Amino acid sequence: MISRGVSRSIAIVGCGIAGMAAALFLTRLGHRVELVERFDAPRPVGAGLLLQPLGLAVLDRLGVGLRIRSAGARIDRLHGLTHPGGRRILDVGYDEIAPGLSGLGIHRASLFGALHAAVEAEGIAVATATGIVDIDRAADRRPLLVEAAGRRHGPFDLVVDASGAKSVLRPHAGGTTRPVRPFRFGALWTTVPVAGTGFDTAALAQRYIAARQMAGVMPVGGAPGASGPHAAFFWSIPSDRVDAWRAAGLARWKDQVAAVWPEAANLIAGIDDPDRLTPAFYLHATVRHPVAERLALIGDAAHATSPQLGQGANMGLIDAAALADAIAGHADLATGLAAYAAARQRHVRFYQAASWWLTPMFQSGSRLPALIRDIGFPLAHAVPYARRDMAFGFAGLKASAFGRIPPPPQR
Ligand SMILES: Cc1cc2nc3c(=O)[nH]c(=O)nc-3n(C[C@H](O)[C@H](O)[C@H](O)COP(=O)(O)OP(=O)(O)OC[C@H]3O[C@@H](n4cnc5c(N)ncnc54)[C@H](O)[C@@H]3O)c2cc1C
Repeated sequence: MISRGVSRSIAIVGCGIAGMAAALFLTRLGHRVELVERFDAPRPVGAGLLLQPLGLAVLDRLGVGLRIRSAGARIDRLHGLTHPGGRRILDVGYDEIAPGLSGLGIHRASLFGALHAAVEAEGIAVATATGIVDIDRAADRRPLLVEAAGRRHGPFDLVVDASGAKSVLRPHAGGTTRPVRPFRFGALWTTVPVAGTGFDTAALAQRYIAARQMAGVMPVGGAPGASGPHAAFFWSIPSDRVDAWRAAGLARWKDQVAAVWPEAANLIAGIDDPDRLTPAFYLHATVRHPVAERLALIGDAAHATSPQLGQGANMGLIDAAALADAIAGHADLATGLAAYAAARQRHVRFYQAASWWLTPMFQSGSRLPALIRDIGFPLAHAVPYARRDMAFGFAGLKASAFGRIPPPPQR
């Protein structure tokens, strides 16, 4: 990274994965960075995440890669079968791309904790309980952040919007490529101990009934406050069925899981309270151009989608690195921001489009997308070139300006 020695005042809205990564990179370049977070205390939301090789390489650059790897679970394969029938829909390994390459399943709290500790160690200011609702401009056009009660912060040389999928600042970047649309399906997520259950702790496994039901087990390594290896378990559900699921009771749900995936019944046997399952729903939004005058969008604020391809956190980390590199590489801020947008365009557009088209094949009430999946995916597995291409796709390595394969970590 080349630093041109200009120290700028930068506000980053959102103390999430992308926001903290950007804060670390930009502080280390000599900028004066402030993180602005709506919650009283920054906190992780959700259960497990699959980190891809490029996201892990960004965490290595930030100096937290070793800590993250020791907290998480190395993932070597992704596989998914239909039920009934056991048709193999997905069976790809990272070693088909390069020997030693892997993903990492991690509990959100572990990733959040490692980044947050680095933010604290770097002495980066975090303004909590500060929900930003708008951007205003000072007389010299520098951006000011506006809170709901009208309080203003700034002006800043640059605002980075890292406020996630529901960003209210997104319209300042000039619109989205499609209407912002919630997916009908989300999932119930929980974390469960995996020791002694017979599950492969190096594979993300899924089961599908057409596209109307999906279940998944993703090893995440350690979980906060618990010992032994854990996995995230997810069970897809339409947003309008959560109340009915709760009313039907846990016993009924456990029977359904056992019918679809008998081995997973052991995993969830210990769940005795529906509140241990957290419903999560997603929306799809891609900004046309993730920059405007003295404003950059990163992470889900720039490109939100369903977690079907497991790329969101990965993309947010890559955005943070790309933004810092672009700003460091150009003395003029506007040129640096344009370079950031250009560096990320192909990768973001590819994965947003892939997620848009693939999500209904795995989570929708429609029969046709599932049928296309059930014919197309096994065919792709049978053709060596297509199979390897698919592995690149799931590993987040398609269409990337950061497209070189990162070397496996030194152990
Ligand atoms: C259930 C689920 C499973 C997922 N699985 C995966 C996976 O396996 N792999 C993967 O890579 N991705 C996954 N994702 C996606 C991933 O979680 C997101 O892409 C990632 O968290 C985005 O990071 P971010 O920093 O952009 O936003 P966030 O992590 O959402 O952080 C945004 C931050 O901004 C704060 N904020 C929001 N609005 C304001 C405001 N107005 N003012 C001030 N602060 C504000 C929020 O409180 C939050 O702290 C999953 C998502 C979900 C929901």
